[in-house]
Amino acid sequence: MVAIITGASRGIGKACALRLARDGYKVVINYANNDKTANEVLEEVKSFGGEGMVYKADVSKPEEVKAMIKEVYKAYGEIDVLVNNAGIVRDQYLLMLSEENLDACFNLNVKGYFYMSQACALKMFKKKKGAIINISSVSGHFALPGQSVYGATKGAVNQMTRTLAKELAGYGIRVNAVAPGFIETEMLNHIPEDKKEEYLKVIPMHKLGNAEDVANVVSFLASDESKYITGEIITLDGGLSL
Ligand code: NAP
Repeated sequence: MVAIITGASRGIGKACALRLARDGYKVVINYANNDKTANEVLEEVKSFGGEGMVYKADVSKPEEVKAMIKEVYKAYGEIDVLVNNAGIVRDQYLLMLSEENLDACFNLNVKGYFYMSQACALKMFKKKKGAIINISSVSGHFALPGQSVYGATKGAVNQMTRTLAKELAGYGIRVNAVAPGFIETEMLNHIPEDKKEEYLKVIPMHKLGNAEDVANVVSFLASDESKYITGEIITLDGGLSL
């Protein structure tokens, strides 16, 4: 069984790759820039007897996605699970909003998820089985000032999840999403400490999540334990959006 995880050189994607490798999948560790950290993830996978490969590709570029899926299929002959995880945040208030940030967010967080889903679904059709798991965000349904663009991309991911779940159900492909709140990864580095303290006060559980919390849900959604679940968006935010 083979699982592709986009943006797996660190953070949530890395935790998902390690967890799915422990679950027995051959893992494809996709990343955009950081060869060193991606290879370290692969080394960690191998250290506990897991299997996999690293693949550098910018998933916001359709031709790079197609080339990656071709190579992976040539190497492994099947694709069972896709975790659409590579994403960026560019917080900006409306009046400061730049076209560059708008394009960068939509190109990766939305179009990248479509390119990957399309390329992988074409392979999953052959087995009449597959699981696509989209990493969304609580910002897709809970308004955080400064995150109108990021939130709009994640709102798009949520609706893409529901619609593709309906479209692909007849082909044995399930599509679900995980919507994390604040998870301790490098993505939070841009938030000043005093702001983080403010968030901790409004999160009912008064703590941040960690990448493994997300990976646990991804593992469940990838497995047959969730075989009757499709089109769901599972929020994982310590109660923030209640
Ligand atoms: P992160 O620590 O910033 O890691 C981002 C990963 O994406 C890295 O592996 C990076 O690769 C890769 N990447 C960036 N651009 C790419 C591209 N164009 N093509 C392929 N890979 C690319 O992020 P994270 O915090 O783990 O977040 C992962 C996902 O969870 C995102 O979709 C994010 O929106 C979502 N999320 C995060 C949080 C949070 O609090 N952290 C909360 C809700 C949702 P390189 O290392 O090579 O650059």
